[in-house]
Amino acid sequence: MEFKLTPEQEMLRDTAREFAEKEVEPRVEEIEKTRKIPEDLIKRLFELGFGGIIIPEEYEGSAAGHLARAIILEEIAYSCPALAFTLQIVHLGQAPLIFHGTKEQKEKWLPDLAKGKLIASCAVTEPTGGSDVMGIKTFAKKENNEYVITGRKCFITNVHLANIHGVLAKSGEDPRHMTFFMIEGDRPGVKPGREENKVGLHGCNTGELILDNVRVPVENVIGVEGKGLRVALTAITNVGRMGVAATGVGIIRRCLDEAVKFANQRVLYGQPISRLQAIQWLISDIYLRYETARLLLHRAAWMIDQGIRADAEVGMVKLTATEGAAECASKLSSILGAYGIMEEYAAQRLLRDAYSLIPAAGTNEIMRIVISRKAFERAT
Ligand SMILES: Cc1cc2nc3c(=O)[nH]c(=O)nc-3n(C[C@H](O)[C@H](O)[C@H](O)COP(=O)(O)OP(=O)(O)OC[C@H]3O[C@@H](n4cnc5c(N)ncnc54)[C@H](O)[C@@H]3O)c2cc1C
Repeated sequence: MEFKLTPEQEMLRDTAREFAEKEVEPRVEEIEKTRKIPEDLIKRLFELGFGGIIIPEEYEGSAAGHLARAIILEEIAYSCPALAFTLQIVHLGQAPLIFHGTKEQKEKWLPDLAKGKLIASCAVTEPTGGSDVMGIKTFAKKENNEYVITGRKCFITNVHLANIHGVLAKSGEDPRHMTFFMIEGDRPGVKPGREENKVGLHGCNTGELILDNVRVPVENVIGVEGKGLRVALTAITNVGRMGVAATGVGIIRRCLDEAVKFANQRVLYGQPISRLQAIQWLISDIYLRYETARLLLHRAAWMIDQGIRADAEVGMVKLTATEGAAECASKLSSILGAYGIMEEYAAQRLLRDAYSLIPAAGTNEIMRIVISRKAFERAT
């Protein structure tokens, strides 16, 4: 068993760390205030090869894999969770094609997705169908060689940034008959709707996707007609949940560093508060959460890179990293006293960002269900 990163992974981590420190960190205040991620930062993600990190080389991606992806997302999230989340959904938008696309579909779309000429959203959730995916109402009616799709998606990340959308729709009488489509943003009847105001992850846009009698050729179906739920779930599990988790791990590491720095500087009773055992316990809790979540993250990413099914392991890290991020940001806020709720300090932003991660890509109640399935399987 090897716990060391490869030289290539170390190099990627260092590149991501330098990018985050020098180019992202100085812009965080601007992003928080304007609630917009500057276009040049999105462009840089692609210039550095981070946009195409899980796209195979034959389709012009950097093909570094899921562990490398987790490492760079952690680095970016350390400085700006909202930018890491935007990037992770860029990858989620590519995932249905990577896992289930035909050679022709990959050749058609992946090179442009790797370069950032195309950005895809992944639109599954609807007002009537979040955890209960069967509750979605978007319907795709087949007419000869086309589908006509109508519906309204909500809480879709990057929907106002994307120019192509991955969409899950019902497509038959059986409620489980669903099909996954790639829908170009310039097709008549496609338009982003309302933009949401989240408490955290400011700048990372979330909103509605409206589909009004959109005509899509059968060539845009990803995977098998009627089996779209599998396409959506593979992408959400291996890429969406992992990206949420990696963002959480970045938040926890930031909480750790901010906590140690403050505890060493703040003097009470004639000595730094780092000498108080109560503060040491809070810091050791944060450190433990960081190590646990990061190890779970790397193990699950390694499994995905090896092609091993990792639903439960992904559920474990998504739960640990997001609940951990919220807990650690809350502990950081306690250590800071009143400074913990002041806007000049990162603690309040980290807390808001951490809370925003919790329902994303499936709530933690759903993660517990996924984990328990494996627990029961093991026992039989
Ligand atoms: C930041 C962010 C980004 C997102 N980005 C996207 C995106 O890009 N694309 C997309 O399609 N969606 C996206 N979503 C939506 C997200 O996937 C849903 O919010 C999530 O699946 C939960 O659905 P819901 O909000 O409708 O909650 P509901 O499903 O209504 O859940 C309500 C409550 O019931 C609980 N619950 C539900 N079912 C069960 C059960 N069987 N057992 C126990 N408890 C249960 C839930 O855990 C929760 O506590 C995003 C959400 C967030 C917050």
